Amino acid sequence: MSTVVAAGGKDLGTKVPLLIIGAGAAGLCAALTAKEAEVEVVVVERETTPSGSTALSAGLIPAAGTRFQRAKGIHDHPKLLAADIAHKANGEVDPAVVNAIAEDSATLVEWLADRHDFPFDVIDNFNYPGHSSLRMHGLPSRTGRELIDRLRTAAELNDIVILNRSVAELLLADAEGQVIGVEIARPDGKRERIGCDTLILACSGFGGNPDLVRRHIPEMAGAIYFGHRGNRGHAVIWGSELGAQLTHLGAYQGHGSVATPHNILISWAVIMQGGIQVNRDGRRFSDETRGYSEQAAEVLKQPDAIAWDVFDARIAAVARQFEDFRQAESAGAILTADSVENLAEAMHIPVATFVAAWKEAEKLKLASGQDRFGRKFLAEQLCGPPYHAVKVAGALFHTQGGLAVDPTGRVKRKNATGFPNLFAAGGAATGISGATAAGYLSGNGLLTATVLGHLAGQAAARQMTRA
Ligand SMILES: Cc1cc2nc3c(=O)[nH]c(=O)nc-3n(C[C@H](O)[C@H](O)[C@H](O)COP(=O)(O)OP(=O)(O)OC[C@H]3O[C@@H](n4cnc5c(N)ncnc54)[C@H](O)[C@@H]3O)c2cc1C
Repeated sequence: MSTVVAAGGKDLGTKVPLLIIGAGAAGLCAALTAKEAEVEVVVVERETTPSGSTALSAGLIPAAGTRFQRAKGIHDHPKLLAADIAHKANGEVDPAVVNAIAEDSATLVEWLADRHDFPFDVIDNFNYPGHSSLRMHGLPSRTGRELIDRLRTAAELNDIVILNRSVAELLLADAEGQVIGVEIARPDGKRERIGCDTLILACSGFGGNPDLVRRHIPEMAGAIYFGHRGNRGHAVIWGSELGAQLTHLGAYQGHGSVATPHNILISWAVIMQGGIQVNRDGRRFSDETRGYSEQAAEVLKQPDAIAWDVFDARIAAVARQFEDFRQAESAGAILTADSVENLAEAMHIPVATFVAAWKEAEKLKLASGQDRFGRKFLAEQLCGPPYHAVKVAGALFHTQGGLAVDPTGRVKRKNATGFPNLFAAGGAATGISGATAAGYLSGNGLLTATVLGHLAGQAAARQMTRA
């Protein structure tokens, strides 16, 4: 059955100026922006309360040139952020989109802080792979739950209507690709049509649609999906029927460090501060510092599809700023021992092989050397007892392919012209991570959700107030 239905304005009951599908970070940033420009906006959300993948994330937004960075003496510039994004994505990005996002990143973070009272600060005690500056901005709990709760509160304070428990199932459009509205389904099975002048798709990617994952990202078909299950690929499905340009559908954000069987995210700080990963046989298998996203597939390739993160108490103290890590400790996921030999016993892995791998890494740190995988070790990251280990799996966090957009979030047709009144942001739009998992620079997810949401909200409002 087609999910895009030809319809005219006469088929609709209610009509609103701006309709947004999805109340994650992208949808709510777009809504707050449009409302500030005095455009009436309605957000349609499948869940009882906004959550999405945003709630599952660490809530960290990379931004370049903020006052939070300046206060800590951190030098940064949007051009550096844009260059880091393009470098990690192997140049497979639209530079105009990346530049627009990098340019607006500091404005977005400061706007949330100043206008909506978000208590951001910038993480300054470790850096993520691929970032040439300390620029991850987070809220006190370092959780996406706090980010989405604050966005929802801001939406409520600004009288933004969120229709919870409403699933947009059909997109209504005319023959020229002008969007007319959507048909939503309510929990009691009732269906209702809502018309709109402009539509922003903020309903994220297709991680919650196993058929689409199998088709576009076969290497992750067997992985745990750690993102929001309600993201079933509506944007991609509608876009394909409308004749939109869909790009990089095989790209995704993975993560090679999800505590198993507890299913709790273990921050990549444990690696970036000097920890290593070994497999069930006690052997290292990769340069872990390339990035956590591509590490998901590396972990999946190991015996039993698991690995162990191994680190020490100094590193655990850094990771403890993340609520997830503290939860993993409470859940008993983190093993502790006073020697690496005893740690290997507790992990039930071959002691001699593991101890050799550990000692080799420590020796390389002393010499500031490089291993056979290309990982560079740092002398200041030497480890000492007590030691810790946590068994982890590789997971799919969210998909990065989607609707190609211009720098304002306007969705492009296959011939690259823009749809007249259709925008996309966040996981619904093509990401800025190139064609593979390796192109994902930490923070690209919330960057495209919050900043592209902001840009799309601005563009939609501009278009509507002009009309
Ligand atoms: C565990 C985890 C950790 C992460 N950590 C980070 C991080 O620290 N930094 C970072 O940058 N990124 C991170 N990410 C990625 C980041 O969470 C996502 O890129 C981002 O949240 C996407 O925002 P969004 O608004 O596009 O989607 P979402 O937050 O998923 O919101 C989409 C919303 O649309 C709703 N929806 C979907 N379809 C429909 C429909 N048909 N009708 C009505 N509603 C619908 C969903 O219910 C959902 O609420 C992480 C992801 C995960 C899973």
